[in-house]
Amino acid sequence: MGEPVRCARSYKGWQCKNVHVPVFVKGQWTKNCDECRAKCRRHSKSETAQKTRAEYVKSESYKAKNAKAVSKYQSTTSGKLLAKNRNAQEHYVQYRKQYAKSPRGKAARKKHDALPMSRLATAVRIMLKRSNLNSTKVLKKTEFKSNADMRSYLESTWEPWMNWKNHGKLTKGQESQTTWQIGHRIPIAAYDQENEEDVLKCWKKCNIFAQDAKENIQLGCKLPPIDTLMSLRAIWPEKWGDSVPKA
Ligand SMILES: [Zn+2]
Repeated sequence: MGEPVRCARSYKGWQCKNVHVPVFVKGQWTKNCDECRAKCRRHSKSETAQKTRAEYVKSESYKAKNAKAVSKYQSTTSGKLLAKNRNAQEHYVQYRKQYAKSPRGKAARKKHDALPMSRLATAVRIMLKRSNLNSTKVLKKTEFKSNADMRSYLESTWEPWMNWKNHGKLTKGQESQTTWQIGHRIPIAAYDQENEEDVLKCWKKCNIFAQDAKENIQLGCKLPPIDTLMSLRAIWPEKWGDSVPKA
């Protein structure tokens, strides 16, 4: 049990004189006495209070504060788990499919595909499909000198189970060590996908390796360990400046 403290409810120089022992309610310690808390509860149900609240919720300051709180929650373990479970629900899967087919979804896809980063990724993918194909874009924007050079570089980063037959797309339900893809040590999402400098950095040899497709998906946009990051100092995204962003 805590020590009794003076009730914190105040208004223009006046402060409630009651003393109360704080109790832990809804994740925090109470600051006001029972009497004041009852008064607040009654007030919050009143028409005036509901009107004030409705206006506050629409305000820019509330929106900014809320967006910050939401993104903070989404970065926690429980927040991530909630999103994962929600996204796996059938109606969410359906919603995403519908969105992809909608005019807005199609427009978003088109916008994404037009980004310099996506266009280079597509060119690399096409080049990898056929061993005799050389994309001018890829040869110009990456360190690869030819299709064969790109292949032998990727092969040099292979794990024992990887080969040219198991490169490609991961299908639903597939396990680890079944398919590999091109992985980026500093993930694409960390870069500005419209910035040409960032695109070049992201596709430098030192940032690319053959990666277990399952691991690629699981890691998402997570940054590599700090020692890897430090060794990649030369290809840090432009917006980082001189320091790695805090998680
Ligand atoms: Zn009070």
